[in-house]
Amino acid sequence: MSSAWNFNNSYLDLPKIFYVQQAPTPVKQAKMVLFNTRLAEQLGLQSLAEQLADTTQTLAGNILPVGACPIAQAYAGHQFGHFTMLGDGRAILLGEHITPAQMRVDIQLKGAGLTAFSRSGDGRAALAPMLRELIISEAMAALDIPTTRGLAVVATGEAVYRTEPLKGAILTRIASSHIRVGTFEYALMRNQKEDLQALADYTIQRHYPEAAQQENPYLALLISVMHKQADLIARWMSVGFIHGVMNTDNMSIAGETIDYGPCAFMNRYDPDTVFSSIDTRGRYAYAQQPKIAQWNLLRFAETLLPLLDDDQQQAIAMAVEPLEKFPEIYEAAWLTRFAHKLGIQQPVAEDLSLIHQLLDMMYVTQADFTNSFRALADNSIHQQAVFQHKEFEPWFARWEQRLRQQSITQAQIQQMMLQMNPAVIPRNHLVEEALAAAQDHDDMHAFEALLEVVRAPFTAPSNPKYSQPPSSEAGYRTFCGT
Ligand code: AMP
Ligand code: MG
Repeated sequence: MSSAWNFNNSYLDLPKIFYVQQAPTPVKQAKMVLFNTRLAEQLGLQSLAEQLADTTQTLAGNILPVGACPIAQAYAGHQFGHFTMLGDGRAILLGEHITPAQMRVDIQLKGAGLTAFSRSGDGRAALAPMLRELIISEAMAALDIPTTRGLAVVATGEAVYRTEPLKGAILTRIASSHIRVGTFEYALMRNQKEDLQALADYTIQRHYPEAAQQENPYLALLISVMHKQADLIARWMSVGFIHGVMNTDNMSIAGETIDYGPCAFMNRYDPDTVFSSIDTRGRYAYAQQPKIAQWNLLRFAETLLPLLDDDQQQAIAMAVEPLEKFPEIYEAAWLTRFAHKLGIQQPVAEDLSLIHQLLDMMYVTQADFTNSFRALADNSIHQQAVFQHKEFEPWFARWEQRLRQQSITQAQIQQMMLQMNPAVIPRNHLVEEALAAAQDHDDMHAFEALLEVVRAPFTAPSNPKYSQPPSSEAGYRTFCGT
């Protein structure tokens, strides 16, 4: 039986300080809970579904596929502003799979057992948070937002102990790579320039090969990562996504959304929205995200200083120049996305006030973020709270006038708006309901139905419950590292 896997493990060529070899710890009774057939097809792994018994054992960590060379990666990070040494405490990288289209992706088992980096943790994960990561990352991918993906969730047949015993599970996570800002912080901490340079060269080769051609490849790397992050955060903002724990170890150098812990989508528009139970000061609130991205990029830039120039002052000057442009780059990305949401193809500076006036009215009327924009796109705005605002009519007239200045047809405008404004996001209350059925009753119906709907977010759902906001979300809280 030929294997679908096509492993080629380039991370092992890095200096040994960047990983420890570690096999997954076998589990008692592996059972496939969800296999992502569509993603498997994109990765050239569709035959895994035909050998489901073997696949289940593989993705539970009970058998190693041919070509895998399991490791736990070393990294550090700033968590809520404080530096810590971390590393994969419960995730094991099986290796890098090369797809038929020659894409290189990490195959990682999250919840695969203890590693040298586990500290006081148990190396395991619970079923509901792994399903949650899978469904929210599927929604993100469908919303055209760069993200890691979930190939499968396998139940382990073992309990994990949190505040109560919970069903254990392992998520197979697919990522362009798991190199984080924190990986570079770790390299800097080790204080060996050769190691840091090896990581930077590897990253350039894997993710930003064009940087190698530039006069200073490391400066080019910094600038590329900065642009990727500006674009990513603008995309998050445009759909009301709140990551919830933007620590530097959770910021991917490849620019993918990674580490779906306490993340959630905003319902009612409020820039201060925070869902994470541990984010008591709102460090990672919705509107803070661009500032935090810049703060994280500053940490990244610091790690590159030894490579930028032998003269530290000179190196700092080189890094500061592009970093100071981050707000501008981000604002431009944000303006483009929000202008497109309003059907404006080529935004100009004056469009900013048009967008902000709308957002201000949404805030005052406690309007639903997703549904207000969607209603502008499908001409049903009168059903939304923002329509009640006394300034709405003049705003609407101004907006229509702005649209008429364009040389595209009304149909083209509407088309653009329907493609930019989702009818469906994974609403927190629906996600919780689906997870409860899976966790408490092994019932995957609600989950699978919701997954189907969030995979087509720009199509109005046949069942209106999928686009309705919750009656109240007072006290809705999300949790980390569960
Ligand atoms: P996260 O909050 O998922 O970004 O994880 C932060 C750090 O805690 C990482 O080093 C994880 O590997 C580690 N960690 C989270 N949960 C566990 C667990 N159950 N066992 C061991 N380490 C964990
Ligand atoms: Mg993390």
